[in-house]
Amino acid sequence: VFWRVARNLMILSPAFALLGAGVWFIVTQFQQAPTTTEQGGRLVVVVVIDQFRGDYLTKFGPLFAADGFTAMQSQGIWYDHLHHTHASSLTGPGHATIATGVNPNVHGIVGNDWFDRTRNQKIYSASGDRAYERVPLGTPSKVDGGGLAPERLLVPTVGDVLVASKQGRVFSLALKDRTAILLGGKQPSGAYFYDPKTGEFVTTTFYRERLPGWVEQFNRAKHVDKWLGKPWERLSEEFHYKQYAGLDAAPGERLGLSKADHVFPHGLGNSANADYFTALEGTPMANELLWKLGQACIEAENLGQAGGTDLLWLGLSANDIIGHAFGPDSHEVLDATLRTDRLIAEILKTLEQKLGTGRYTLIVTSDHGICPLPETGKHPEAERFDPLEEYCPLNTVLNEKFGTTGVLWVERIEFPWVYFNNRAIDAHKIARPELEEAAAQWAANRPNNAEAAFGRTALAGPPMNTDLGRMVQRSFHPDRSGDVYLVNKPFSLPLGKFSVGTTHGTPHPYDTHITLLVYGHKVPARGLQAKPTSSLIVALVIAHALGLEPVATCAEKLPTEWVE
Ligand SMILES: [Zn+2]
Repeated sequence: VFWRVARNLMILSPAFALLGAGVWFIVTQFQQAPTTTEQGGRLVVVVVIDQFRGDYLTKFGPLFAADGFTAMQSQGIWYDHLHHTHASSLTGPGHATIATGVNPNVHGIVGNDWFDRTRNQKIYSASGDRAYERVPLGTPSKVDGGGLAPERLLVPTVGDVLVASKQGRVFSLALKDRTAILLGGKQPSGAYFYDPKTGEFVTTTFYRERLPGWVEQFNRAKHVDKWLGKPWERLSEEFHYKQYAGLDAAPGERLGLSKADHVFPHGLGNSANADYFTALEGTPMANELLWKLGQACIEAENLGQAGGTDLLWLGLSANDIIGHAFGPDSHEVLDATLRTDRLIAEILKTLEQKLGTGRYTLIVTSDHGICPLPETGKHPEAERFDPLEEYCPLNTVLNEKFGTTGVLWVERIEFPWVYFNNRAIDAHKIARPELEEAAAQWAANRPNNAEAAFGRTALAGPPMNTDLGRMVQRSFHPDRSGDVYLVNKPFSLPLGKFSVGTTHGTPHPYDTHITLLVYGHKVPARGLQAKPTSSLIVALVIAHALGLEPVATCAEKLPTEWVE
């Protein structure tokens, strides 16, 4: 079912490919349901935990308290086997998929950034064509491809549809800029994100020229200074960190943003400067700071009190920064997960107090998983490798194959994409598909490649006959992708031979496995759903909570446990 459902969307893909550059796709995934004005209004809060792999809730489950994740798991719906069906399991694509209910080949966010051949420059996923400035004005704001804005999204988000229906408002708050921007869509009433240079929450002139009073006041109150001189310690020494997460100083870890040490406690410094603000973002305290801002938003904007149904996005980005440094099996990720459980309990308590049962829905999800550190030894074939070195012989191989000498066939490698030199292709009159095929075949046999690589002609064609091929097709956009997509071997890390830390971004299950918990108004208490499910349902579940109805153009349907 998982693959069949996802394939439906692919039927549309060649049509999108044919339409070519510059065409703005308006896909109406959701439409407004006929609603009656609710007494007092409602609020839907969606917490997106960055790099919260789908197995954490099971793995660390015995250590959770009763009133956080556990309450949602038992009294709501919990999807334990939820995966992205696209290959590029990165922050930008993950958040855009959650917000739109379609894959990167349709929403257009194919990476955190991508190389634009027409402009010959990198484009950041959360940028716009105009030089939008950071607000408060004067804050430095260098971004690839314009100022920070949601203009690269090619389809409306579920929040955009809510705003268009005039049934509610959207606010998007996150630590990372791209998270707040991509979740918020094009018409939020506010999108605010953390600036690690100043420790303040900021926005851009895409949204407004001045911060609203409540954000100014929040920044002035210096809540960010709360952890000065207080190191990040374990939540409780009573928990078996070693049993659940092995050694604290595990091989392959790198230093966190505090640069303090591989082991607890992680010092944050004693002065309120950029070093402290940056270090803080790599600790679970930054998530607490974000929730403090969330509470200020609910209060000041009267969320859920204005008659309709409002939507509040909360992007907890600290978990990702911690996971990249220490890996998924670390004491730090375990501790961040336990503290996230405490935070979820806080959020539930606040919603219960402010709105009361029947007037709120809490949804918890995530944007991607993570690869374990190769040094754990659980996957002996796992290696750290340098993609430039791995695929460097490709140019020579192509010269040999096509009987040329010294031709620059490969213009650049931006892993996972290879870009060909278009001038060479024109000059030597080599058919593109032939060149792509030759490169893909050679790349597929490299030691650190996963037995497959895909050329753009094949990617733009009809649905491929392998799961992997179709996942890459769902991450392919003709104007934003390269010529050959490389897939590294499972559990190997393309970070360099002597690298430390870990990453994500592949179509492998450890990267695509995310989570979904839903609790509150309009949520049947169905508990664990163990069947394989596509991440496209996250947006449908949010739409359902908001009283918006999905229409036929969406590839997924709300699973039967919601409608029976
Ligand atoms: Zn992420």
